[in-house]
Amino acid sequence: MRVVVVGGGFAGMASAARLAKLGHAVTLLEAASTLGGALGSTTVDDFTFDTGPSTTLLPAVTRDLFRKSGRPIERELDLVPVEVIRTHRFADGATLALPGGSRAAQKRAFDALHPGSGAAWVGYVDSWAEPWERLRKDYLERPWDPDLAHPDAAALLRSRTTLHQAVTRHLDDPRARAVATHSFVADGHDPRRVPAWLGTISYVEQKFGAWTVDGGLSLLGEALARRLTTRKVEIHTATPVTDVLVRSARVRGVRTDAGELEADVVVCAVDPRQFPALRPWIRGTRPVALPRITHLGISGALPPWVADSGEVVLHGGRGESTLVLRHGGTAPVDHAVLTVQHRGDARTDLVAELAARGVDLRDRVVTRVERSPADLTALWGGSPLGVQWRGRSTLRRRWGPTTPVAGLYAAGAHATPGSGLPFTGLSGALVAQSVGPA
Ligand SMILES: Cc1cc2nc3c(=O)[nH]c(=O)nc-3n(C[C@H](O)[C@H](O)[C@H](O)COP(=O)(O)OP(=O)(O)OC[C@H]3O[C@@H](n4cnc5c(N)ncnc54)[C@H](O)[C@@H]3O)c2cc1C
Repeated sequence: MRVVVVGGGFAGMASAARLAKLGHAVTLLEAASTLGGALGSTTVDDFTFDTGPSTTLLPAVTRDLFRKSGRPIERELDLVPVEVIRTHRFADGATLALPGGSRAAQKRAFDALHPGSGAAWVGYVDSWAEPWERLRKDYLERPWDPDLAHPDAAALLRSRTTLHQAVTRHLDDPRARAVATHSFVADGHDPRRVPAWLGTISYVEQKFGAWTVDGGLSLLGEALARRLTTRKVEIHTATPVTDVLVRSARVRGVRTDAGELEADVVVCAVDPRQFPALRPWIRGTRPVALPRITHLGISGALPPWVADSGEVVLHGGRGESTLVLRHGGTAPVDHAVLTVQHRGDARTDLVAELAARGVDLRDRVVTRVERSPADLTALWGGSPLGVQWRGRSTLRRRWGPTTPVAGLYAAGAHATPGSGLPFTGLSGALVAQSVGPA
């Protein structure tokens, strides 16, 4: 079949690679001049910063993608484990270095934060082991089919319990609650509107750890782009799709400035709201707002507790926003890169704010790149963080892998329960299963 994939982010590339391997004639259209979407890098003054992801959970998703679309990933690059997934520094000055891949090590880390709190934390995480297995099999790894799904999986997805309620029930310490909800809060969600079952993320972190690539995770995007060439996917960059062609509730192709392109199958791996022809089918979802991002090139090394952690979260006091620090990328000798993600007031002096929270880089910043939420939305043609959670009904309203339009499939952050390479990578696998072999 003639397949057009709209969007060359991780999800679009994952879908294209898998569908090409299944024997379809795949054309991928990407608005930007390069592939990768949020999984990319920015180079300024010899500093290269990861613009979006710097680590990934569930490396099995990436390994499976490479294996099923050709050669294993180990032939392309090495995924390396990150020992400390995240270091949280709280407003009271206490620090928690959260290790990945080990229940015992996480228990020790919480006990060091507050004696006795390790048992409560691992109890919380343990409670997600079984839900994870259910949802993985019936919802994340194969297209949802109520006739095949275990009743417990259906009950989890139907439940009205929110992440906020689940966390409050298990954890007394507000700092532990902040750790449990961090990834959703950082992505701009309110845990009171996020379903409880997304607590499974804490289990996935503990069980499988976080992984990265030396030199920056953007190298993974480059490896996947090469895989598309091997699979003979026809790639057109700098080619924004302006609309999807629909007739009698069936997809017919896409429209670009260069004309119309007919297709039997279209995979929408971007925010579908941007296409006028699809709007009548989209109900009550909206994209998550993007944060502000500041890339800093600094002289000298980062403090070891920052450099040795996949991510650092500097929690603010009452009313102050949280700062998320990452260091994916490369720098000249005796220099380092730091990317700060924040949702606070744009007028805040970020370097002074970092110093006040224990990361003093004053007099060491040699390069600075500021990107507002509007800059980032323009850069990525939408929000790579996907759909805002507004309670369990969001699950019904959000598309993916199928859509109300025959022949139109949805992948990517707007078609998954959350942002991140595991979810978006799995969405490509779900689309490939739904479309099937040529
Ligand atoms: C700051 C930040 C940090 C993150 N950190 C992590 C992390 O550490 N780990 C992790 O796993 N995840 C992380 N994520 C999330 C992850 O990056 C995304 O969920 C994932 O990359 C989304 O992939 P995607 O393909 O769905 O979308 P995108 O990456 O947004 O790709 C969409 C692509 O479609 C193109 N496009 C848009 N409209 C059109 C059009 N009309 N026609 C043609 N092309 C179009 C865009 O140019 C873009 O290339 C982070 C995200 C952000 C923003």
